[in-house]
Amino acid sequence: MRPINVSLDSVTWELAKQKPNFSQWVRDQLRSEDNKRKSHEQRPNNRKKCVRGCGEFRIDDSINCAKCREIYGDEI
Ligand SMILES: [Zn+2]
Repeated sequence: MRPINVSLDSVTWELAKQKPNFSQWVRDQLRSEDNKRKSHEQRPNNRKKCVRGCGEFRIDDSINCAKCREIYGDEI
């Protein structure tokens, strides 16, 4: 573990003191925020339009929407 200093005001200091393991809590919060950010970043990739120009969004791992994938498979 590598230490980092955190500056708290009187209110947040009291709140931090109530945490049984403040360091663990901070690590969990940071990871949780990072996971949220990552899932947000993945979303735009999944929201690309179907290459068939049908106006539907692509499904994961495909260039087509679900409907066009059934018709055309994954071929362009
Ligand atoms: Zn389509």
